[in-house]
Amino acid sequence: MTLNKLSNYYLIKPMSRTVLLNPGPVNITDKVRQAMTLPDLCHREKEFSNLMAAIRAKLLQAFNIEETFTSVLVSGSGTAALEMAVSSSLTPKRSMLVIENGVYGERIGKLCDVYNFHRHTIKLDWGVPPNLDDIESILKKQSDIEIVSMVHHETTTGLLNPLQSIGELAKKYGKIFLVDCISSLAGDEVDFTSIDLAVGTANKCLQGVPGVSFVLFRKKDLARLIKIPARSLYFNLTEYHKAQEIGKLLFTPAIPAHYALDVALDELIEETVAGRIYRYANCAKFLRDGFKKLNLEYLIPEGWRSNCLTGLKLPKGISYKKLHSKLKANGFVIYSGQGNLSENIFRIANMGDIKKEEFDRFIKILGTIC
Ligand SMILES: *Cc1c(COP(=O)(O)O)cnc(C)c1O
Repeated sequence: MTLNKLSNYYLIKPMSRTVLLNPGPVNITDKVRQAMTLPDLCHREKEFSNLMAAIRAKLLQAFNIEETFTSVLVSGSGTAALEMAVSSSLTPKRSMLVIENGVYGERIGKLCDVYNFHRHTIKLDWGVPPNLDDIESILKKQSDIEIVSMVHHETTTGLLNPLQSIGELAKKYGKIFLVDCISSLAGDEVDFTSIDLAVGTANKCLQGVPGVSFVLFRKKDLARLIKIPARSLYFNLTEYHKAQEIGKLLFTPAIPAHYALDVALDELIEETVAGRIYRYANCAKFLRDGFKKLNLEYLIPEGWRSNCLTGLKLPKGISYKKLHSKLKANGFVIYSGQGNLSENIFRIANMGDIKKEEFDRFIKILGTIC
């Protein structure tokens, strides 16, 4: 089979740009794309050690946490880093408090179950924010809890969970605070004051490509973490940290994704995290003004929405399938709802390198369909 024929299987329209309005992977800049064509590299050579060290440092620099945090890279999607953080951070015989109000909160719960962790769960309907009094009363009663875990931006619905106030509660009761920031880092403001472990990935608001994700953790928590027995070979946080601190790797990394992340971080540092958050907030505002004009109904009330994703109810008489295919024919990929929401909603993310004109064209085409 010729390469040209083969490419028909995965290229939608060769050379044309599809605007990705799904919450990752995102549209990347040409510079980030070009980085993936850098020379072949052996990960056991000093060139890769240098690249890895640069990425680890730039992550901390971008979020201004060099003093207090350290970073660990792991090859795999965001869930790889999430599994690493969850599986490596709970002291034996202690338990985790899991706040679930969407697919990703429930994923933390599932990870606890896979590792046979004892957990307490605050289970809410998707899109319903947690009640602080409920969290406090569990923390007061259950002294076995060592870690409070939550998702910052619950991508299932576009709800931004109250990171700061839950973090303050966790600290008040002396708990470790573990946060899935995968879809909020560089898109919404992440307050690191109370966070002990934060999980992120390259291919959402950092504007890199899938293949590498990371855990940022507080340096002073290392002494506690290294006492925890290994529960996994591939996802052992402190073993990775020990190796990466001396420029070594345990397993073969996704090298092109690292090349891309390095350049994506340069671009983020240049734009600044605050600048990117501002840009995304403006994009979301532009889209939401458009949705309002089209009389579309929001899933999450104002004040609780992230900067990066909007959940909308499907207009009457239009199925998701039809909406998706009409938009795709015009060069836009949207995202369906998950689980029970799959028949009723659609999601529009505004992460990535997307131009104002593209959002404008999207709203116009959406208007002709609705
Ligand atoms: C995208 C995402 C993940 C990870 O999903 P992967 O498919 O493993 O990249 C985890 N949590 C949240 C909140 C996410 O948005």
